[in-house]
Amino acid sequence: MSISTSPQAQLLPQSQKRFLPNPRTHTAHLSLPFRPIPIKCASTPAQLHTPQAPTQAHSQERLFNFAAGPATLPESVLRRAQSELFIWRGSGMSVMEMSHRGKDFKSIIEKAESDLRSLLQIPPEYSVLFLQGGATTQFAALPLNLCRSPHDPVDYIVTGSWSDKAFKEAQKYSKPNPIWSGKAQNYTNIPSFADLQQNPDARYLHICANETIHGVEYKTYPTPLNPNAVLVADMSSNFCSKPVDVSKFGVIYAGAQKNVGPSGVTIVIIRNDLIAQAQDVTPVMLEYRIHAENHSLYNTPPCYGIYMCGLVFEDLLEQGGLVEVEKKNQKKAEILYSAIDGSNGFYRCPVEKSVRSLMNVPFTLEKSELEGEFIKEAAKENMVQLKGHRSVGGMRASIYNAMPLAGVQKLVSFMKDFQAKHA
Ligand code: PMP
Repeated sequence: MSISTSPQAQLLPQSQKRFLPNPRTHTAHLSLPFRPIPIKCASTPAQLHTPQAPTQAHSQERLFNFAAGPATLPESVLRRAQSELFIWRGSGMSVMEMSHRGKDFKSIIEKAESDLRSLLQIPPEYSVLFLQGGATTQFAALPLNLCRSPHDPVDYIVTGSWSDKAFKEAQKYSKPNPIWSGKAQNYTNIPSFADLQQNPDARYLHICANETIHGVEYKTYPTPLNPNAVLVADMSSNFCSKPVDVSKFGVIYAGAQKNVGPSGVTIVIIRNDLIAQAQDVTPVMLEYRIHAENHSLYNTPPCYGIYMCGLVFEDLLEQGGLVEVEKKNQKKAEILYSAIDGSNGFYRCPVEKSVRSLMNVPFTLEKSELEGEFIKEAAKENMVQLKGHRSVGGMRASIYNAMPLAGVQKLVSFMKDFQAKHA
């Protein structure tokens, strides 16, 4: 492999030269809008497999962080970022200091996109956008871009707080119909798709694939009744946690801060024919066409966050891709739900078994007066952020991709001890 001979490169110690981009493959190239983009990346295959900083299963100094988001990140990714924080691969500067239009950052964003495409097997007729504003901004961007006028009907399935918020925001820019709501059952289930009263003229059918607060997750997906409509999914809290058939969706969107990176990056995967003229009132920053035409570089993107997402995507590929990741997630969820279900009612998960989330596990204590003590005692054992969302109370353990099995095992063993002490 030939290595850059730039002056900065020559000054680098041998140990850092292996991170240098190969100038022959280091081409940033994005061409026509709405087209699959052949990606050439800064990292050669050799670089992809450069040894990362030593990975420990779980550093003793770190807490087991069960937060719903921002959430725990893979240790190997944090250490890799640490090793590249000061100078990124011979570029002479940190990723935070780079021009977003320079070749180094372009290679970072292109590689992040190409790795995400590999992970989710995103068909070529879909665009990937790296945006800002969180998933909350997408609640407005969707009707603004997918409806021609604020009078267009759209369907929403409301399975929890997040789909409810999405529905409410859509009221400003479209005519959304909440065709099903789980509110009366405290959002503990998902409807039978056959029972849905879909509007045959709806432009899209919106779901939240995983309700972060209520712990309800779709295991299969509904099909819009209108053959010209598309399925739109908020996958913020189960993005890249398992394989997904992207071709079943018109739009998938997700805030990064649960499974794939820090907050500040929002990923939108959208079928190219849906990137059309948005409603006239659409702010430029919410227009998919603008971002797609400019390959997410219309304005300054969240560069460092995108870099971090790229490291996470690399890590997920190195783990064997999403099939392997899902197996790990299933195992973690299974031992936690079994502990809850096997506690003779001491712990209880209100969610219907068939739709329990692999990512967010809400549970209550039969003796609710012990909740404060549970959280305090768990924190003493280095397990934090177990308090349920303020709107629902109880406990919630978020066990995203980066939560090690050891963290869940430790939690389960703590739960058993706590029960033995208080039963
Ligand atoms: N949708 C879901 C499913 C979420 O979990 C969240 C955040 N917790 C949001 C949307 C809102 O995301 P953001 O804070 O990135 O706007």
